[in-house]
Amino acid sequence: MAQQRQQPQRQRPQRQQPQQHHKKKRRSGTGAALGLVLILLLGAITVGAVLLAQNNQKPSEEQNNQQSQSSDEETIEEEQPTQPKEEEAQQEESSEEQDTQKLAEEFAQEKQEWYLLLANVDNPLPQDFTVETEVVQNSFEMDARVAQTMRNMIDAAAKDGVDLLVCSAYRSIEKQQTLFDEQVQIYLNQGKSRQEAYDLTASAIAIPGTSEHHTGLAADIVTPTHQTLDPEFADTEAGQWLQEHAWEYGFVLRYPEDKQDVTKIIYESWHYRFVGKTHAKLMKESGLCLEEYLQQEVPEGYTGISDPFADPQVS
Ligand SMILES: [Zn+2]
Repeated sequence: MAQQRQQPQRQRPQRQQPQQHHKKKRRSGTGAALGLVLILLLGAITVGAVLLAQNNQKPSEEQNNQQSQSSDEETIEEEQPTQPKEEEAQQEESSEEQDTQKLAEEFAQEKQEWYLLLANVDNPLPQDFTVETEVVQNSFEMDARVAQTMRNMIDAAAKDGVDLLVCSAYRSIEKQQTLFDEQVQIYLNQGKSRQEAYDLTASAIAIPGTSEHHTGLAADIVTPTHQTLDPEFADTEAGQWLQEHAWEYGFVLRYPEDKQDVTKIIYESWHYRFVGKTHAKLMKESGLCLEEYLQQEVPEGYTGISDPFADPQVS
């Protein structure tokens, strides 16, 4: 039994050992736990400190952002009062440029219209050029589109007691060739050389294709009491009336005295040409001949394409 007792006694230390060992273990376990708590605490403090630091930083960052935002707003607010003025000025400038560009485009387009057709020694008409014509007075014909306005002008002059007499109007290129050849023959008969005869004829009669009479838009106008084509026609009642009123019907004195170097045609006080009412007005106001007028980018007072028979805008 003692053996039985001893055995447990013997076993006790063995049991105790594990107990001690266990205690040791427990002790070292407590230390570890304490360490862990410490680490956790330290960690918590560290985290807390970091969070605090971040919290301290965050507002300042937000403030910075807010400041930068508000400063942006401030610059926008500062710029706002000046921007509309600049924009207005720019808009005015660009709209002026746009207007000029638009007018230039419209004028370029309108120059292709039949009533602004240019026929001269530098711009001969094609040999197959044709136009529908209509009688305006006696047997003289003009472009059917301007015949009525020519008749209106003749009637208006008659009401003012002025007789306008058409002595030449539409002339075909073939007819011009005949006229030209006849005049060359007259000079040849006078003993001139062929070159002399041609040059003399070309100085007085348009070379076929280059005469404005081919267009059907021009007419030579005189009066019963003065039927010769000379500068003095300008001094007659009819000549005076035309200089004053022709533009109202869309006609201009085509070969003025002071433009002979440009038109390359002698002063023709009797030759009137339809260009449309607006252009007739602008040409009269500017004193430009058709060659000069058409070379402009935008004629002064030009307001864009308009009906050639519509009364021009009062400037
Ligand atoms: Zn003529």
